[in-house]
Amino acid sequence: MDDDLLEFCRSIPKIELHAHLNGCIRSSTFRQLLSSSDDQNRLDQLEQTFAQGNTHSRMANVFEKFALLRSCVTNLDEIRRITYETLEDFSNDNVIYAELRTRPRSFDQGRIPSSAYIETIIDVIKQFQEKICARLILSIDRIQSVEQATETFQLAQQYRDYVVGLDLSGDPNVKSFERFRSIFDLAKQVNLSTTIHIGELPDEECLNENNLILDYEPTRLGHFNFRTNEQEQRVIQEKIPLELCPTSNLLTMNLNDFAEHHFNLFYTNKHPIAICTDDSGLMDCCLSTEIYNIAKSFHLSKKDLYEFCFRATNLIFDKNALKFLQQKLEEFSQQSNIF
Ligand code: 5GP
Repeated sequence: MDDDLLEFCRSIPKIELHAHLNGCIRSSTFRQLLSSSDDQNRLDQLEQTFAQGNTHSRMANVFEKFALLRSCVTNLDEIRRITYETLEDFSNDNVIYAELRTRPRSFDQGRIPSSAYIETIIDVIKQFQEKICARLILSIDRIQSVEQATETFQLAQQYRDYVVGLDLSGDPNVKSFERFRSIFDLAKQVNLSTTIHIGELPDEECLNENNLILDYEPTRLGHFNFRTNEQEQRVIQEKIPLELCPTSNLLTMNLNDFAEHHFNLFYTNKHPIAICTDDSGLMDCCLSTEIYNIAKSFHLSKKDLYEFCFRATNLIFDKNALKFLQQKLEEFSQQSNIF
């Protein structure tokens, strides 16, 4: 390991643009929240079998873990804790701006509404504002109904001070972008940025859905692991920014190492890219090491990395924060003598 480069990746001020709040849960917290030994055993089993399968079975494994996680987070105190620990972890890793995405949910059979879920997260974001500038992206889950997705859009509108975007995520086996297209059109009408998970499975249906997503022209795209050459060229020509999550992509795509990741293809085309963590808790990774692994695999110098991180700031949804982030990076470059 190149200690000097790793230290550089740790100390450079970073931005995180693709982090699912509940997926950031510390594994120790996840274990504590699991109430029964059956659930503990199920988690052990899922962790042991994950690496055995192909993309489809790995995805199924990950989504079973998400379901288990969802079943053990049952109240606002737990969401408060997860948000607190997530922001603490990012801030300790010198992340200075983070867009956390989450699917709003109610608790206690609706007695605690989704608005309380969002307000709880915003409360913690405010507590951390001196250390890290955090914003929210609300996620529509592929399995939801149009009514539920509409409610999410309305919540996004209601909390626009902190909510900066709308996401589509959830089990990629469910091809539902078309169903939600009208809601994403509404987002455009009110200038709410959008990010869509695209190309997560190596199948025909997924490749077909990629076209529908690209036709919509979202503000950013997540992953783009599986795609046709034509789709690749289209994204490059239209300069649609990509959120790439190396560890998560490596695991679900079943790649041998980071050198096989599609980062380089887009990087060499000078494409707008952000390196992100996806689910730092469940994937056991942090942003510094994600950036380090990519830098190491594709022989990026400190100067390359600095320029990469600087360019990535242009991809944030809350443009009000741009000047502050770029200033922080400039201060860092003056102190670290990279040029
Ligand atoms: P939450 O929205 O509950 O805060 O974060 C966890 C949820 O994010 C998961 O249940 C899942 O729906 C979504 N998610 C996390 N990682 C991925 C991913 O890699 N791909 C997709 N499509 N969805 C994800």
